[in-house]
Formats: sequence, C-alpha cells, structure tokens
Amino acid sequence: MAKNIQAIRGMHDVLPEQTARWQFVEQQMRDVLAAYAYTEIRLPIVEKTELFKRSIGEVTDIVEKEMYTFDDRNGDSLTLRPEGTAGCLRACLEHGLLHNQVHRLWYYGQMFRHERPQKGRYRQFIQLGVETYGMAGPDIDAELILLSYRLWQRLGILDTVELQLNSLGTVAERAVYREQLVEYFSAHADQLDEDSQRRLKTNPLRILDTKNKDMRQLVENAPALMDFLGAESKAHFKGLTDTLDTLGIKYTLNQRLVRGLDYYSKTVFEWVTTELGAQGTICAGGRYDGLIEQLGGKPNHAVGFAMGMERILALLESREDLDNIQTVDAYLILVGDAALKSGLILAEQLRNSLPGLRLQMHCGVASFKSQFKKADKSGADYALILAEDEVLKDQISIKYLRTDQQQRTVSQAELIELLQSK
Ligand code: ATP
Ligand code: MG
Repeated sequence: MAKNIQAIRGMHDVLPEQTARWQFVEQQMRDVLAAYAYTEIRLPIVEKTELFKRSIGEVTDIVEKEMYTFDDRNGDSLTLRPEGTAGCLRACLEHGLLHNQVHRLWYYGQMFRHERPQKGRYRQFIQLGVETYGMAGPDIDAELILLSYRLWQRLGILDTVELQLNSLGTVAERAVYREQLVEYFSAHADQLDEDSQRRLKTNPLRILDTKNKDMRQLVENAPALMDFLGAESKAHFKGLTDTLDTLGIKYTLNQRLVRGLDYYSKTVFEWVTTELGAQGTICAGGRYDGLIEQLGGKPNHAVGFAMGMERILALLESREDLDNIQTVDAYLILVGDAALKSGLILAEQLRNSLPGLRLQMHCGVASFKSQFKKADKSGADYALILAEDEVLKDQISIKYLRTDQQQRTVSQAELIELLQSK
C-alpha cells in the first residue's frame, strides 16, 4: 500500500472539532475591531523577497534564516510572507491610500517562518495584524493598547496577561545608545554566547532580547536606552503612560524589550503570559515611523501590532464551554422510497422558510434506527421524520431529542410555525 502523505512539519490542520473555538475568538476579534472603527484589508500571501529585505532588515532573524523564499518560473525571487506589516504598507503605498489620510486597518491570515517547531512556535501560523497610519501622537499608541486590552477582556484572559512597555526613541537616539552598548558588551565579550557575539557586529540591540538565562545578569547591567532618549521621545512615552494610568491599565517597563524588527521607533509593547512556557508573547507591536520612507513613501507615521492566534487559542484551552458547540438544529430522517424522493424538496422548503435553521438531511439508504442514532449524535434538538405515512398525508413527525416532550405529527405549515417560535 502507498504511504500516506502527511502535513509539513510545523504546519497544522485545524480539525472540525476545534473550529468552533477559532470562530469564537475570530468573532470577538471582529466585534472589537468594529467597535474602534477599523477596516479590514486583504493582502496576498506571497510578496517579492525584496519587500521583506528592505522593510524587516537584512540582519534580523526573520530575513537571515526564517523566510520561505523561492524563485518562481520567471526567475523572480518570491517569499511567503513572514509577517504582515510590510505587505500592508506596500499595498497602501501602491494604491495611494496614504495621501493626507488617516487609516486604521487590520488583516488576518497565515504567516510563514522556518523556525524550529515547538509549542507555540510553528512554521505556518495565523496572525491578526492591526496597523494605523498618519497619526503622530501617543493617543493612537494608547488606542491600540486599549483595543487589545478589550479583546483580552472579551476572551476572559485578561488576568493571565501582562503589558510590557518600552521606548526605542528615534533612530538618532538609538545610534548613540548603540555605540555605548557595543562598548559595554565588547568589554564583556567573554560572557556573550555565539549568537550574541554575532549580533554584536550586526544588530547589538538584539542582544538585550536574548533568551539565554546565563546572560541575564550581563544584560540587566547594560546601559538603558531610556537614559538616551531626547525630550520629544520622553514626552511621547509619558503621554502614553499617563493615558494608561488614567484608564487604570497596568503595565511594566521592560528596558530589554527591543523587538526583533529594525523598523520600530518610540513606543514598543508586548502582551506576555507566563502560562505558555518560553513562547509567552501573545501580542507585540509598536511605532514604526521610519518604515514608510524606507519603502519609498513620503515620511509618515505608523503604529501597529500583531497577535499570534495559536498562542491565544492555547490560553483558552481550559475553556470547555467552547468545545462541541452545536452546529445542527434539526436532523431530517427519511424512511422509504417516497420519502427519499420528496426529502430534498422538503429540506429546501424548510431552509427557504427558516433562513436561520441549521438543517442536516440524511443522505443514503439506512434503517430508521441507524438514522435516529445519527440524528442524536449530530447534536440536533429535533429529529424530523418523513416516512411513507407522512408523505401520503403531507405531514411530518417531530421528535424532541433533548427534552421529554411528546413526539407529534403536524402539517408542514405547522412545523414551520413551530420551529419559528423556537
Ligand atoms: P518570538 O520572539 O516569539 O519569536 P517575534 O518577535 O518573532 O516573536 P513577531 O514578529 O513580533 O514575533 O510576531 C508577533 C506575534 O506573532 C508574536 O508575539 C507571536 O504571538 C506570534 N508568532 C511569531 N512567530 C510565531 C511562530 N513561529 N509561531 C506561532 N506564533 C508566532
Ligand atoms: Mg521570532
């Protein structure tokens, strides 16, 4: 026998029994985004490789080692999107959406990174991305945090997550800081692991982001970026924290929070949890004012975040009430040749009259007993029975599967009225 073909490592199916959970989270997500008047943008999954190199930066983990890059048949280098910010901005620039306009956008979909698969880290994963353009002040930074806060509240996971904040200042402020940092780490080069030694030359700020516990002390004693911020960056950060204080949103200042991507400036934030092991960041974002110009647009402001849906779903794992959500209201049982013939017509008539009804019709010949078992298993509230007798009299029998109510036989018109009243 031929060997079964299996899914690619790190790329997972979401099976029917799990989709109700996903749909629950997606519905909450859409409702919250609508409450803040954000609009959806739908983007291609594949972009030119150049886009990611130019936006994310050549010396980041993503571009150095995580991208799925291939040549298409014309020889163009294409990449499966590892994140959505670059593509979203590319689309906005391409379609001229940013001319003197303010935008609040979101997108939702698969991202691809060639990472080592483990819990909370996959090669294909889903992100909700939220991006805003054209707003300079800390009010929009605050709005994005409030939006995510509201989503945690809706999902019932607020008390398992913590907000961490930092400011990366401007490019110029970071350049001065970078020199100091290189000096500091060079003086302690013997304590750096291999990755960090490499980063010292390419992207020294990323050393602060190390997951190596042996380097914790070294990183904690490093110069702090906050001390290098100018008046404007400081005022921006204070504007944000004042708003959060006023609204009672708790946060911790994390000076080691530098984010993996090069394009951030000023505000950066992460929502983290201790409940998912090493993969504790469920949502990450910040301001990236420099990126628009970097991609060929006029200088403009941008702030956004992305959340990892699989990690959010993992936080909801203990919510048993989200399992086995009912998908069928009524199950149509057909017994005898005459019923088989008129069953489909009846089912369509019921769906015409009752647009909200979720009706499953039995297909294929089977005994009443086996159909009844299937009806029960489907989770439906009623079995609707069409046998020879019912067909002759233009009636239908209704059997209540979840209550003790007596089975009854009614006309089709009565049935519609009955189901309507439910
Ligand atoms: P990490 O430090 O965990 O690698 P990152 O900085 O690479 O995260 P971002 O690029 O900021 O992550 O992506 C935003 C969010 O997307 C992350 O906080 C996480 O929730 C999710 N995410 C990122 N990479 C993966 C992955 N490989 N599998 C599942 N979720 C992911
Ligand atoms: Mg990563």
